[in-house]
Amino acid sequence: MKKIMVMPGDGIGPEIVNETIKILDYMISKYNLEIGYEYGDIGGIAIDKYGIPVKDETIEKCKNSNAVLLGAVGGPKWDTTLPGKPRPEDALLKVRKELGLFANLRPVKIYKPLVSSSTLKEEVLTGVNILVLRELTGGIYFGERKRLSDEKGEYAYDTEKYYTYEIERIARLGFKTARMRSKKITSVDKANILESSRLWREVVNKIHKEYDDIELNHMYVDNTSMQLIRNPKQFDVILTSNMFGDILSDETAMISGSIGLLPSASLREDSLGMYEPIHGSAPDIQGQGKANPIAQILSLAMLLRYSLDLGLQADFIEKAVDVVLEKGYRTADIYDSKNKLVSTSEMGNLILDEIKTLCLDD
Ligand code: NAD
Repeated sequence: MKKIMVMPGDGIGPEIVNETIKILDYMISKYNLEIGYEYGDIGGIAIDKYGIPVKDETIEKCKNSNAVLLGAVGGPKWDTTLPGKPRPEDALLKVRKELGLFANLRPVKIYKPLVSSSTLKEEVLTGVNILVLRELTGGIYFGERKRLSDEKGEYAYDTEKYYTYEIERIARLGFKTARMRSKKITSVDKANILESSRLWREVVNKIHKEYDDIELNHMYVDNTSMQLIRNPKQFDVILTSNMFGDILSDETAMISGSIGLLPSASLREDSLGMYEPIHGSAPDIQGQGKANPIAQILSLAMLLRYSLDLGLQADFIEKAVDVVLEKGYRTADIYDSKNKLVSTSEMGNLILDEIKTLCLDD
């Protein structure tokens, strides 16, 4: 029996997770899948109940699962900068760290009917389908940092440090991911300047020998940030370090023009992963039926594909989202007057109905 830990969190989290679970339940019964799930508290709701943003017991349950499906955490009720006060977001860092999730995957696909939501031109965008694979537990965000002074005054430094093994494991995941897509990968670095990037490039080239059916090219990060705006269609998988990935994944997300559509995954080698929308808990629209559940539903599709090896079911979910958008149904965040406005649960039901149709044709 495969196990999923479901943690809806705060704000719109429970609303969009609810729509997603309807789809999971349907998939389990339609295909007799041996999947069980249980709920856990994370973020503000856990602070309210237990005084901490996530209990050790909940983390243990995540460790004993095959995957974690997360909504979002946070909200004004728990906003604090006071030292020692628990913050909902601390739970996310803790879970990622405790589970050893070293890779972050963010796919960005342009939906034809939504092309006008982006600030880029239609001809530049049509056909864009990129996955940014970011190393998550190494590099400058975790390297040594200090603030010191000498005769010239105060100074500070941060250190970009990568071990070969850290680059090897993310590169392997990159090539494997490229195999599930169009077999093209771009490794992004700054090897003309940084020694850590030169090691990155060497190691990626070495691992490429194990995956010689995949087309690999290297690109400097400054050029990549320009090319993403000039001609994003040239990219499929972008493999990069923690800091470069942080910046490039936000740039790539903004190409799509809509935050409510984008899922993400954080993985480790044995395929255990945490899956969540890239957006936050949107407290401004909580409880109003306005939240777009698509990013959460697509996070389930990623979970089925990457952690449970259920690519067919993942394809059906992604295809159903395409069809519903093609038919002109929109939640408020992506609505314009030419379309049909629907609530969170209506959108969830429409996607579920399309999934049922696709599964019947199967
Ligand atoms: P946000 O992503 O929650 O919201 C930004 C804007 O996008 C808001 O106007 C919101 O209404 C809208 N939006 C976001 N998701 C939407 C959806 N699915 N459907 C329709 N509209 C959507 O970012 P924020 O406002 O900066 O943060 C709100 C809270 O979320 C904060 O407490 C923040 O710390 C937290 N947060 C959590 C995560 C996470 O859980 N991974 C990530 C980012 C922010």
